[in-house]
Amino acid sequence: MADLVLALDQGTTSSRALLFDDAGRVRGLGQHEFAQHYPAAGFVEHDAEQIWDTTRAAVRDALAAAGARASDVACAGVTNQRETVVLWERATGRPLHRAIVWQDRRTADACDALARSGHLPLVTARTGLLLDPYFSASKIAWLLDHVPGARARAEAGELAVGTIDTFLLWRLTGGATHATDATNASRTSLFDIHRQGWDDELLALFGVPRALLPDVRDSASDFGAIDAALFGGAIPLTGVAGDQQAAALGQACWTPGSSKCTYGTGGFLLLNTGADVVASHKRLLSTVAYRLAGRTSYALEGSFFSAGSAIQWLRDGLRLLARASDSAEMAARSDLSRAVHLVPAFTGLGAPHWDARARGALVGLTRDVTADDVVRAALEASAFQTAELLDAMRDDGCPPPAALRIDGGMAANDWFAQRLADLLGLPVERPKVTETTALGAALLARLGAGVAADPDELAKRWQLDRRFVPMMSEDERATRRAGWRAAVRSVLTGPRA
Ligand code: ADP
Repeated sequence: MADLVLALDQGTTSSRALLFDDAGRVRGLGQHEFAQHYPAAGFVEHDAEQIWDTTRAAVRDALAAAGARASDVACAGVTNQRETVVLWERATGRPLHRAIVWQDRRTADACDALARSGHLPLVTARTGLLLDPYFSASKIAWLLDHVPGARARAEAGELAVGTIDTFLLWRLTGGATHATDATNASRTSLFDIHRQGWDDELLALFGVPRALLPDVRDSASDFGAIDAALFGGAIPLTGVAGDQQAAALGQACWTPGSSKCTYGTGGFLLLNTGADVVASHKRLLSTVAYRLAGRTSYALEGSFFSAGSAIQWLRDGLRLLARASDSAEMAARSDLSRAVHLVPAFTGLGAPHWDARARGALVGLTRDVTADDVVRAALEASAFQTAELLDAMRDDGCPPPAALRIDGGMAANDWFAQRLADLLGLPVERPKVTETTALGAALLARLGAGVAADPDELAKRWQLDRRFVPMMSEDERATRRAGWRAAVRSVLTGPRA
């Protein structure tokens, strides 16, 4: 019987495929890294053909690792790096340029110009986003303006555009499906998240012809089937979501008030706000959490650019530690009475500061500070940044969750998880299955295929690995957080500096 579910997890540095069994265990995994292209300062590109090749290879490896065939797979889901865009020719499926990656800043001036012309309120009201190169719209416009003949061909309906999910769906179905899901659409800056449709005013503002865009579907729905010729049998494609939204579902954040934070290279906090779109006054984003049977659930999102990357820098740049996992032992040896703070603003600060020009700092140094203290400060930085986001959410009228669910590379660090609970004053929960992004895509696929009945059934399957309960006094928490705020103030470049 076909009881495996395939999850395609197309990330920023690698393409992965995971096969989950009915109990949510990983039965097979394939993973292939691909090249990062930096053709100019601030430019970041991926070769879409390489994304496709590594995806196919990952699926083949996952099937082989599980000893399974396509006929053992009931359905498949796709999750992906968000905002990254591909432009291709409908007739051949050939990309006309390398994919422009979410990190790419080439459209910063174009976004600034739109903001100066007073368009930010419209963009935020319709999309829940800010005017920033991060989102897809200005990247699509750049492609149309820089690929010779692209704009005319786009108007004539010869071209297609899409985020990575859309490109993969096109390739997997042999060009039969040009679609995306509502979570990915909500990151383009062209999609009205209230009406759930492409918005003509935004299309005109960014200069993107509607003929280029995919059909927007529920996150669990019929996206066609994987071409039988690819892996030796057709597999229905029934779930799609952007990576952070998928991770939230993998953490069973189906209901209002539930939240998760992923600590990888950066940190991504999502709080489910149910049917309400929260208009943030704290520069958080409102985004689609998922859409099922035509009903949209929303989330408030805050992200910070540097979480695990601070540990990476201490390891590879300063060589203070050999392995990222050594950070737990070193932090445990640190003298907590030393008020050392590391502000990891290597590429500026994200929400709620959005200060692109801020740079990092190590403050509170005395002659007795050790490498252990600096490593501890790097771990604490992620906890303080999470606390800032939860404060911003509270100021936006969203009370803190009963507990914060965590995942990503840093979540494996027990010292960090305990410190996070202490500095937040909130219980922190780590699940048994830490492959939350792929799991979320697999859960959506199960819903879309009718293998699972409803989110309640899926939420019950979430299993706790360990719960970390706050042990720090209120006073100490307040003092330490004040120390962090002072450190951040010292690096801000805006009017608040
Ligand atoms: P991404 O998906 O962004 O590549 P991962 O979720 O794989 O990230 O997490 C990798 C990051 O987590 C790295 O930046 C690494 O420094 C950090 N990391 C991994 N293990 C640990 C650990 N035990 N303690 C602290 N940081 C860790």
